[in-house]
Amino acid sequence: MFNISKRKLSLAALLSITLVLGTLSNAFSGEPKTPQIQSYGDDMMALKQKSAVKQALRHIAEHDQKTIDDMIILSEIPAPPFKEQKRAAKFAQMLRDLGLSDVTIDNEGNVLARRKGRNSAHTVAIVAHLDTVFPEGTDVRVKIDGNLYTAPGIGDNARGLAVITAMVRALKAAAIKTDGDILFVGSVGEEGLGDLRGVKYLLREGGPGIDSFIGIDGGNNRLVYGAVGSYRYRVTFHGPGGHSWGAFGTVNPHHALGRAMEKMAVGGVDIYATGPKVSISVGRIGGGTSINSIPFESWMEVDMRSATVRKLDEMDRMFKQAVMTALNEENAARSEGPPLTVEIANIGLRPAGKGDVKSALVQRAMAAMSLMGTTPELAVSSTDANIAISRGMPAITMSRGGLNKASHSLHESWQNTDGHIAIQSVLLTVLAEAGIL
Ligand SMILES: [Zn+2]
Repeated sequence: MFNISKRKLSLAALLSITLVLGTLSNAFSGEPKTPQIQSYGDDMMALKQKSAVKQALRHIAEHDQKTIDDMIILSEIPAPPFKEQKRAAKFAQMLRDLGLSDVTIDNEGNVLARRKGRNSAHTVAIVAHLDTVFPEGTDVRVKIDGNLYTAPGIGDNARGLAVITAMVRALKAAAIKTDGDILFVGSVGEEGLGDLRGVKYLLREGGPGIDSFIGIDGGNNRLVYGAVGSYRYRVTFHGPGGHSWGAFGTVNPHHALGRAMEKMAVGGVDIYATGPKVSISVGRIGGGTSINSIPFESWMEVDMRSATVRKLDEMDRMFKQAVMTALNEENAARSEGPPLTVEIANIGLRPAGKGDVKSALVQRAMAAMSLMGTTPELAVSSTDANIAISRGMPAITMSRGGLNKASHSLHESWQNTDGHIAIQSVLLTVLAEAGIL
């Protein structure tokens, strides 16, 4: 479309490129305008009229404070990446206290609680992640100001876990019996470098046999039906290092890194300018010891994302080519010392998946949300549902309700703006999916 490799770009040209890209990315992130299929709305209406279901929905509204108490208790137990054990133990205990007998913690650290159905022909998993992004030692005490709750991890995803306890409580109070099983899950490793290790284990061959997957994460009226996949790498250039003057001519790892980044930025344009949305970003760089030393190493962390596997793979090939070309160029430019080497380590892989808004599960969730008076905002995102969506399994991620602000920051807050409605929507979706007489 346009040739970025021309070194001289006028400001006007740059602005127009920005505008064009802006327009394109909007066009591609725009959600499909798929109408809700009427029959799912009718079925959902009939389901909501059942007296036991009415009772369960009412229970959720009336026990709103109990849900919030659970959220606070869980939020105040630190759950740093790879250290979710204490929160997992408490969550398991809460589910046992609510009357579930089949509660276990699997080998990866996920909490699993199975609520048996009449025939167990079908298993619907409801999954909220246990982990937060916050390191050990973070102050996780919850500050309360009216209906505003402030603490790191309060919304993301202590609230998601409390959505599960609220549902278990309501199902019990209304003595609801489903056809299929419901498997409640507190998952590990959703955030950061956890790389979805919890759900990857959960959905392994020979695992608990899940047929539909409903994640609970994210706020507002978001309904995630597609999976934004990501590839993550740590690239490290290694050289002998030396004095900036005395050893000049020796390979310079930083210079190679700079060359690689320039090639990625330029090479990426042709890929993201057309077709489905795809991104590439260098998030962190480092290395070097002093201003007058040629560094012995230089590293960067790279994150690429797309909901379309083909685009992600295209970006991936371009990225690896850029690194290898940069290596060769830097080596060709050296006049003394050994050559530079490079290491490309994969530090994350979340598979992408298109999802299908016309599928029964997505339609049921849309119908449930509409019936509860909310407008579903269809979205593609990167959540615990990625693995299931990428395999073509019925899978979505539904909102935990309320208003979540500044998630992943120390001043994260969650506001209870009719938060119970989201739980009611999830419950209806689960009951429609699991089946109820
Ligand atoms: Zn989350």
